[in-house]
Amino acid sequence: MTELVGRSISELKKLLAEKSVSAREILAAHLKYVQAHDSDIKAFTCLTEERAQKQAARVDELIARGEALPALAGIPVAVKDNICVADYPTTCSSRILENFIAPYEATVAQKLDQAGALFIGKTNMDEFAMGSSTENSAFKKTANPWDLSRVPGGSSGGSTAAVAAGMAVLALGSDTGGSIRQPAAFCGVSGMKPTYGMVSRFGLVAYASSLDQIGPLARSVEDTAIALSVIAGHDKKDSTSIPDPFKNQGPRFEMALSDNPEKLVKGLRVGVISELVGEGIEPEIVSAIRAAAAVFEKLGAKVTDISLPNSKYALPVYYLIATAEASANLARYDGVKYGLRETEGAAKDSILQMYKSTRSKGFGAEVKRRIMLGTYALSSGYYDAYYKKAQQVRRLIKNDFDNVFQNCDVLISPTSPTVAFKIAEKTDDPLSMYLSDIATIPANLAGLPGISIPAGLGKDKLPIGLQILGNTLSDEVVLKVAHAFQQSTDFHNRQFPGLATVG
Ligand code: GLN
Repeated sequence: MTELVGRSISELKKLLAEKSVSAREILAAHLKYVQAHDSDIKAFTCLTEERAQKQAARVDELIARGEALPALAGIPVAVKDNICVADYPTTCSSRILENFIAPYEATVAQKLDQAGALFIGKTNMDEFAMGSSTENSAFKKTANPWDLSRVPGGSSGGSTAAVAAGMAVLALGSDTGGSIRQPAAFCGVSGMKPTYGMVSRFGLVAYASSLDQIGPLARSVEDTAIALSVIAGHDKKDSTSIPDPFKNQGPRFEMALSDNPEKLVKGLRVGVISELVGEGIEPEIVSAIRAAAAVFEKLGAKVTDISLPNSKYALPVYYLIATAEASANLARYDGVKYGLRETEGAAKDSILQMYKSTRSKGFGAEVKRRIMLGTYALSSGYYDAYYKKAQQVRRLIKNDFDNVFQNCDVLISPTSPTVAFKIAEKTDDPLSMYLSDIATIPANLAGLPGISIPAGLGKDKLPIGLQILGNTLSDEVVLKVAHAFQQSTDFHNRQFPGLATVG
């Protein structure tokens, strides 16, 4: 059989359209690959094979009837385990939701299903999306396919590793402070956080609601764009989704990616974020970003260094706002409404003790740390000093972006200050872990679209990520610039040194 793993969407769809393979065969090849490699990578929390078999059968029927194939017909997709796929577990990699079965389907999953995708499985993550290495999962530690002793990044580490390793063609992640872009950088794939409100969050378990956004991960910008077209758009079930971002025409981001990179980039004004190409960023990463800037210059862009002076406050602002929102969002896990109920040690009539035991046992250390931090920041007497102040500084950070976007079309920077670090290297030092989000958090605070794409390998032969940010609703521009880069370089085609091929 033709090798089916590691292919792009358009390659697989071509094979389907020519009837060289069936959707069932594509699924079988990927499931076999998962069986062979996930014991090393540990990307999945559960497989959704039964659902995928039904989806594949449906696609094969369409082909048999000679009907047009929808956008993701026969494409294996992995879904982060904080996004509901009906009748399967949604654990958020937390003990407190270990036995929770989603009673309904997230809008994004519904859209993927309608587009013909095959759901391979749910993926491991930092508990409730709090973390940057997927080590905060209550269940297992996912490995980076490039080097199994390293983290895949986080919090969408399982989704990203699944795509990087070839176990899925696409994956969904969520990005509150960098959780799609940072793992994309660590695993050498493309990962996009769309404009806040571009993609419905109905069926996404909330972490920090003013920041959370769902987005796609794939091995190329083209596949990322196809996936975003499928999941984007207004949803009346999510009051934060943008009313009519596409003026009723439906998004077709991939159509904007003309094949000529000069055409995509010529005359574009590219700003290099000066705060992110200096101190605190590994020199090999700075060099890769400078080299990327030179690629854009050669394609006819006007490249200048710009400054976001208030972005130095982004980290503390994020860790006040995100934790404050998390403390409110996670209050619902009380042993009554969802998941775990721990009655051990509780007198029969003591509901308070039941709450306490459930939450003590159900949440991991990082989640507890953040609930406490957020509760403190919101408490009366401290609200003005912390939460309100953080919101005010958030506005200053947004104003910086508004200013530079008067003279720039896109901004570039590293996605992360380092390449993938070793498993356990940072687990005892939360602050150094938090610092790995320094380049991604500002875009969440300002609601802007951003993508991370591979921009080279460092000295340890590990991927380096280039971040491209755009103004609100400039998702298409971001994708165009990222695609032009991939047309002019081959970093995205370099596969990791290699999992053995199976059948
Ligand atoms: N790593 C960041 C955090 O720990 C961002 C997480 C995310 O985007 N979900 O909060």
